[in-house]
Amino acid sequence: MADTIFTKIINKQVPADIVYEDEFCLAIKDINPQAPVHLLLIPKKPIAMLSTAKPEDQALLGHLLLAAGKIARELKVDGAFRVVINNGKDGGQAVFHVHIHILAGRPFRWPPG
Ligand code: AMP
Repeated sequence: MADTIFTKIINKQVPADIVYEDEFCLAIKDINPQAPVHLLLIPKKPIAMLSTAKPEDQALLGHLLLAAGKIARELKVDGAFRVVINNGKDGGQAVFHVHIHILAGRPFRWPPG
């Protein structure tokens, strides 16, 4: 798949505000935040969509969720936060490199709309 903006950020070809990084993923501040805390947790492996992830991505996907919890604890928002994965254009996905939105710092309604 062609490089997305996230691959360029991972490769440090494009600047971003990186708040967390480990061997498998990094978290950046969203440039268009929808909450006081709005991070994007991005695997370094460029999987296009959650729905195209493969069985061999199981450990990586688990790692991402554990990293989301760890980041929330580090930011002291672990009492109330939301994680979102948009999948596909009509699911709200704009960048086709799977990523987890981590949102916090305001109340969230349900259904999300
Ligand atoms: P999605 O709609 O789920 O694909 O989310 C893509 C997100 O990436 C949006 O919330 C954008 O604001 C965000 N975004 C796009 N380009 C950048 C960038 N260069 N740095 C940080 N966030 C970005």
